[in-house]
Amino acid sequence: MSPLNSWYPFPMDTDFSIYNLPFGIFKPGRASARAGMAVGEEIMDLTILQELGLFDGIFLQDPSVFYADALNDFIALGKETTSAIRLRVQQLLFLENEELKSHPERSKVFFKQNAVQMLLPVRIGDYTDFYSSEQHATNVGSMFRDPANALLPNWKHLPVGYHGRASSIVISGTALHRPKGQTKADDAATPTFGPSKQVDFELEMAFVIGKNSDLGEAISTGHAADSIFGFLLFNDWSARDLQKWEYVPLGPFLAKNFGSSVSPWLVTAEALEPFKVAGPKQEPEVLPYLQFSGLHHYDLNLSVSIAPKESAETVVCRSNYRHMYWNTVQQLAHHTVNGCNLRIGDLLASGTISGPEADSYGSMLELAWKGSKPLKLSDGSTRSFIHDHDTVVIRGWAEKEGMRVGFGEVRTEVLPAKD
Ligand code: MN
Repeated sequence: MSPLNSWYPFPMDTDFSIYNLPFGIFKPGRASARAGMAVGEEIMDLTILQELGLFDGIFLQDPSVFYADALNDFIALGKETTSAIRLRVQQLLFLENEELKSHPERSKVFFKQNAVQMLLPVRIGDYTDFYSSEQHATNVGSMFRDPANALLPNWKHLPVGYHGRASSIVISGTALHRPKGQTKADDAATPTFGPSKQVDFELEMAFVIGKNSDLGEAISTGHAADSIFGFLLFNDWSARDLQKWEYVPLGPFLAKNFGSSVSPWLVTAEALEPFKVAGPKQEPEVLPYLQFSGLHHYDLNLSVSIAPKESAETVVCRSNYRHMYWNTVQQLAHHTVNGCNLRIGDLLASGTISGPEADSYGSMLELAWKGSKPLKLSDGSTRSFIHDHDTVVIRGWAEKEGMRVGFGEVRTEVLPAKD
């Protein structure tokens, strides 16, 4: 694919290139929330494009669908409509297209991203977190159990996951308080209560469900892609000391549900299509319902930075979404194989994405190896876990043959525990 020419002045190396055109929800000043699309450092207001008649020819049952505080109703129109809108905006930006470029009301369409408030792109009904990076599961298993048998017997037979909490998923820029809870030291007889001393990030990707399924309906790996609307960066905040004490036998609870952070721009599955790659060979062979054909991994660069208060950022992790053992269609097929129904706006997260190198691990737990190898930041301070007033920034972008499709960032400051 050769680079597309546009009359719009896209900045060099922007995540929000003409190949991307992700959807989001924004609020300009005191005006009501509406749907927009990121272009360079600006947003195109889809309500205005609609009002100017620039979507004429694309059937929208309810033309006010873009005046909304979430994309759920728009997504419900189906991929035929949502991709027609995206491709129409792309066409409006083509060099030779004058419809918007020469429109007398063109300036009404554009807003500076840094001058508006972003909202969560979808109303998230349910949230599921997987545990699908082999390196991550191996690291955690080695630290807490036995390096020789780091993976539990089920791990290579099914994508392990748990149901998380949707109410505490927040948009990038929302600060979170350090959680309080119970912890118990190994040599203590009883637990104590107080602020977590081991707040950690988890570098993850999440995909958003774009199609309702029925209770009792299993979605095959071959049909799963139809149900995936798009992707977000996801930080699954974790309190390791709370987690260690509480997780047996039912798994994560208060160590996880105090907050998870997502990026604002919902990058469509179509935009990521050119960056698909093969995943690892799965050995032993998986059961038939988890077998798949085609490419379902993504070559998507990921990074995590820590910025202490009033200090520069230090990149502490460089990973890639391709480092997954279980892919999205397997996760979706497994999630529904028992008849569990999915709804538009549900969010399925990958699990911590750790690569093979020590600087590609997707959590502080692994990067600083349970506190035994603290990381040095550029301001000279060290970290085993996240300190109060640290800001953690996750970024993600794919690049190939002059095309760049990125997510921007998800940025979260950790505040002191509430009194
Ligand atoms: Mn997680």
